[in-house]
Amino acid sequence: MTNATRRVYQFGGGAADGDGGMKELLGGKGANLAEMSRLGLPVPPGFTITTEVCIEYLEKQTFPSGLSDDVAAALRKVEERMQRRFGDPKAPLLVSVRSGARASMPGMMDTVLNIGLNDRTIEGLIADSGDPRFAYDCYRRLVEMYGDVVMGVSREEIYHPLLEAAKKRRGVVEDRHLPAEDLKALVGEFKQATHRRAGVPFPEEPGDQMWGAIQAVFGSWMNDRAIAYRRINRIPQEWGTAVNVQAMVFGNLGDDCGTGVAFTRSPATGETGIYGEFLPNAQGEDVVAGIRTPQPISGADSASKSLETTMPAIYRELTGIAQRLEKHFREMQDIEFTIMKGRLFALQTRRGERTGLAAVRISVEMAGEGMITKEEAFSRVKAERLNDILAPAFDPLEKAAALRDGRLLAKGLNAGPGAASGALALSAEAAARMHAKGGGSRRVILARAETSPEDITGMEVSAGILTARGGMTSHAAVVARGMGKPCVVGCGALQFAADGASIVVGSRTLREGDPISIDGTSGEVMAGEIRTSPPEVLRVLVDKTLKPGESKSFRDFDALLSWADGARRMSVRANADTPHDATVARALGAQGIGLCRTEHMFFAEERILAVREMILADSVDGRRRALEKIVPMQRSDFAGIFRAMDGLPVTIRLLDPPLHEFLPHGTADIEEVAAALGKPAGAIAAKVAELTEANPMLGHRGCRLAITFPEIYEIQARAIGEAAAEVAAAGVAVHPEIMIPLVMVPEELRRLRALVSATFEAAVAGGSGAGGAPGGARGAAKIPYTIGTMIELPRACVVADQIAVHADFFSFGTNDLTQTTYGLSRDDAGRFLPAYLDSGVIPSDPFAVLDPEGVGALIELAVRGGRGVKPQLKVGICGEHGGDPSSVGFCHRAGLDYVSCSPFRVPIARVAAARAALAEPLASSSNK
Ligand code: ADP
Ligand code: MG
Ligand code: MG
Repeated sequence: MTNATRRVYQFGGGAADGDGGMKELLGGKGANLAEMSRLGLPVPPGFTITTEVCIEYLEKQTFPSGLSDDVAAALRKVEERMQRRFGDPKAPLLVSVRSGARASMPGMMDTVLNIGLNDRTIEGLIADSGDPRFAYDCYRRLVEMYGDVVMGVSREEIYHPLLEAAKKRRGVVEDRHLPAEDLKALVGEFKQATHRRAGVPFPEEPGDQMWGAIQAVFGSWMNDRAIAYRRINRIPQEWGTAVNVQAMVFGNLGDDCGTGVAFTRSPATGETGIYGEFLPNAQGEDVVAGIRTPQPISGADSASKSLETTMPAIYRELTGIAQRLEKHFREMQDIEFTIMKGRLFALQTRRGERTGLAAVRISVEMAGEGMITKEEAFSRVKAERLNDILAPAFDPLEKAAALRDGRLLAKGLNAGPGAASGALALSAEAAARMHAKGGGSRRVILARAETSPEDITGMEVSAGILTARGGMTSHAAVVARGMGKPCVVGCGALQFAADGASIVVGSRTLREGDPISIDGTSGEVMAGEIRTSPPEVLRVLVDKTLKPGESKSFRDFDALLSWADGARRMSVRANADTPHDATVARALGAQGIGLCRTEHMFFAEERILAVREMILADSVDGRRRALEKIVPMQRSDFAGIFRAMDGLPVTIRLLDPPLHEFLPHGTADIEEVAAALGKPAGAIAAKVAELTEANPMLGHRGCRLAITFPEIYEIQARAIGEAAAEVAAAGVAVHPEIMIPLVMVPEELRRLRALVSATFEAAVAGGSGAGGAPGGARGAAKIPYTIGTMIELPRACVVADQIAVHADFFSFGTNDLTQTTYGLSRDDAGRFLPAYLDSGVIPSDPFAVLDPEGVGALIELAVRGGRGVKPQLKVGICGEHGGDPSSVGFCHRAGLDYVSCSPFRVPIARVAAARAALAEPLASSSNK
């Protein structure tokens, strides 16, 4: 038989047909069992049936011919090694049938242990072990596991009540205190219940048991849970699962036996040293089942009843195996083991899951130990894990207690990572009021059906944000991530009471002011307060309440990021609208600001009135007068940002949102504006009606605002120029890049560029404004500045060569570009996009992961068009995608100079850019 058609791979006894590199064919578990056997580790012998057999079986609903002979031959080898025979009434061989796909996959079929027991072989097991209690314990477990997993008889409904009744009759709490005769009786009861429930009897024939379990494992690849899991985790259906059949070793043969799980380093902190837990006198599933509290592996004090103190020789052996496996795989391992009568067996090893903190520490320390390279170190830390490090977290014990106490209210989408606890506020005004009342220190959680730009100030003072509607790129989600705030969106279980003073979740009512907690990393919403702590990295970099020397996690983080910086080509900027955000961004490594949105400066409470006055004005003069009020405020905002960025480039986008969004809504609002402007409310209402748009996102917004009302951009350009001059005069280097949004035809940019550059230069020179010739030579020296555009319409991509004539840079606004390419409103798509994702019509949310084929093709077209005209054209991206690792990879390949993302995603983008550069070094590296 050639390898190509080989269906069954043997392992055990210091050798194996396969090896650790064969995960595609043997699954993760099977490949690593083979590898461990080759290393000479104590692995019970067995064999693996390949994933190819699984696929063939699922297609044809029958096993390939010859498989049963291959399996019989493999089983014979296991019998030889174990010196026992499968189905032998004297000394029976028992086996486990274990599933094992390429990637670890919860939702797949569970393992069935103790296969091969029946009313005849049980006698052999009793005679052989001299322990009837043990033998019936195995038998009882077999019927239960087989019934549940293969025959679909529920453990909770059928078996557990019978077990509980038996324990009650005997007056014991734990299974292991049931005597042999009770277990024997239970086996009978279990079998009867199985027959009744499944309609067919529990199979007595060992061969039928084994094949039944093999079929069930293969079949479970297509069960609903597995399909759902694959879809969410993007695991291809064609992979299939392998099956491992392995000789049983017993951890339930007495107190010198046991079973457990060990990590080679702490999965919580990354600290070196074996870590884990075990249960004496138990079989596999007991550890996770939570019936008994497991004991720790390490711990020198005898009170802990650790493996180290109770079985020191086994502990030493396990430590040796752990170190060997870690060295061999060059990765932190998660090892499953069983101890039988003082002998240790390794049953599984795989890459250990870990927290962000642990991931960074392990990578950095392994690089330090010379086990992996620096490139491997940063490549291994997953983006979401890096995110964890920057987010406040709940105290794990307090959170577990809250969940145990039934304080979980609902689950929504985990839109912004981190944990927040505080008083419930049901409107932005309430949030601001409650926050102010507490002297600015009261923590508030803002809950809204959804948020809008008017809620910004309320969001800013809130510790966390919760919405009932909206998806991962809803307003709430985008803004919260930008602010680095924990956020849960789309939490449909929230119902807002009509009086606006309470919300109802299930059977509970929460009133404004009640304590509430949200976990933006998991999407959980809980009643009551839970203690949180700020991450050390931010305490060092931003709060400066900790010195670098005092934080190991900061030093590891810093080392990892500096290695990544050494490998990347693209630079990384941040989207920041305030001096505070700019400071945070810089601390986290941003090399400039790629998007400073000026509308947030317009929405602030004390400014919105002036903005409304401007919009509602009947004349150019009226508009100019209103705008004049905003100039000093904008100037000081810009000056603050320039100072914070100290010489790094700052891309300022001129006003972009639809006028519609600034309009007063409702009679109270309208009356207030009317009073402030000294106009009749009716006139204001009429003007509002006139300006209301059916489709504002495709309406009067972006540079269209300035084509109709040039004074808007003129005033902004003046504020930028004056701020730049002021800061430059104080000796700070300034580098503004003025960005004109939503250009669809080159003529828009040509006109507005002329207007903006003239105004800016006049302002820098101390002149007074638009069109005015530059005034006297008073003021600062020349300030280097550029003018560019945002590319966010398909048309702009197509005519990018013509647009580039008037642009010093392009920045892809991929939120709008995705919206306009797909013809999908990102504010409303949340209503049906989930159905597209669930049913697999599209592989991922295009607002979260840049669509390389459609939107990406337009980007490539625009880069080619623009650089064809101006080879040195600077090109970047400033949509939400700038912080998504796979999208960053695309940007690298498309030749972009930089990505810009929210401040808290800057470290992730730094690593993603480095990883992309390693994967695909570009021949010509352009300017950063
Ligand atoms: P999972 O993929 O869910 O971890 P496994 O196939 O690893 O399932 O089985 C779960 C547990 O069952 C193992 O950790 C081990 O304790 C026990 N087990 C599996 N096979 C055997 C065996 N041959 N001998 C003893 N215990 C086993
Ligand atoms: Mg396992
Ligand atoms: Mg846009």
